[in-house]
Amino acid sequence: MKILLLGKNGQVGWELQRSLAPLGEVLALDRHSSPHYGDLSQPERLAQTVRDWRPDVIVNAAAHTAVDKAESEPELARCLNATAPAALAQAAAQIGALLVHYSTDYVFNGQGDQPWQEGDATGPLSVYGQTKREGEQAIVASGCAHLIFRTSWVYAARGGNFAKTMLRLAAERERLTVIDDQFGAPTGAELIADVTAHAIVHTLPDRKRLTGIYHLVAAGQTTWHGYASHVIAQARRIQPGLALKVSEVAPVPTSAFPTPAQRPLNSRLATHKLQDAFGLVLPPWQQGVNRMLTEIL
Ligand code: NDP
Repeated sequence: MKILLLGKNGQVGWELQRSLAPLGEVLALDRHSSPHYGDLSQPERLAQTVRDWRPDVIVNAAAHTAVDKAESEPELARCLNATAPAALAQAAAQIGALLVHYSTDYVFNGQGDQPWQEGDATGPLSVYGQTKREGEQAIVASGCAHLIFRTSWVYAARGGNFAKTMLRLAAERERLTVIDDQFGAPTGAELIADVTAHAIVHTLPDRKRLTGIYHLVAAGQTTWHGYASHVIAQARRIQPGLALKVSEVAPVPTSAFPTPAQRPLNSRLATHKLQDAFGLVLPPWQQGVNRMLTEIL
C-alpha cells in the first residue's frame, strides 16, 4: 500500500509517521519537500503530486492551525484549510484514493452543554473554524472516499503544548488564572494517529459504508482550568521534588483573556459513531496526559 502523508512535522503528522509505517510505503512530506510537493499554499502542485505518485491513501495532517493569526490572514487560512483539501479530494476522486483529513470542534458555535454529534448544524465563530468547515464540505462534495476526523485540544510530547506552558508558569508564579468556561477533551496526537491507522485498515475494504465525518477525542470532559489543575497535581505526583511555586490555580471566564478569534464554550464531541464503526474504545483524557507528562518530566 502507498500512503502519502502531508504535514509530517506537525503534532499529529509526527505521530502518523510512526503509526502509518507498518501499513506500507509512506511518502511523508512537509511544505519544503521536493521533488514531490507538500505545500498547501500551492493546491495545484499538491494535486499533481497525488496524480504523479498515485497513493492508495492520502493523509492530510497539515493545516493553518494558528487560530488567532487566521483572523488577520483569512485568504491564507482559506487556501490551506479549504482550497488545498478540495484539490486533494478531487485528485483522490480521480485516482480512487482514500483521503484522511482532520477537522475541529471549532466548526461548532459552542452553545449548550451537550456533546456535539457529527450531524449537528455547524456554526463556526472564527476564520479558522469557518475555513476548516469549508474544507470538510469540499471533501464531501468531491465524492472521494474519505475519513474526516474532528478532534479538539490536541497535545503532543514533542514541541510546545498547554501542559508545558502551565508547568513553566507554575514554576515562576504562586497564582495562575486559567479559563474555566470552555469545555472539551484534551486529545493526544498519539491517540489520533493510532486511531487513524486502525480506521484506514478497516475502511479500505469497506469504503462505501465507512466514508464520513467522525468525532475523535479522548473520553471525558474538562475545562482548561481542570486540565491545568490536573497537570500540576500529576506533575507533583510524578516528580515530588519538582520546584513548583504555584499554590493557587484560579478559575476565570474566557472574557479574562481577550483574543482575536472567538472560541466555542462547548467543545464536547460525541464519539459513539467512531467507536461503533471501528470497534474502538477511546480512553479517558487523563490517561494520555499522564503518559505525556511522564515522558516530558
Ligand atoms: P500543527 O500546527 O502541529 O501542525 C500543522 C502542520 O501543518 C505543521 O507541520 C505545519 O508546518 C503544516 N503547515 C502549515 N502550513 C503549511 C503549508 N503551507 N504547507 C504544508 N504544511 C503546512 O497541527 P496539529 O498536528 O495539532 O493539527 C493536525 C490537524 O488537527 C489539523 O487539521 C488541525 O486543524 C486539526 N486540529 C488541531 C487541533 C489542535 O488543538 N492543535 C484541534 C482540533 C483540530 P510547519 O511546522 O512548517 O509550520
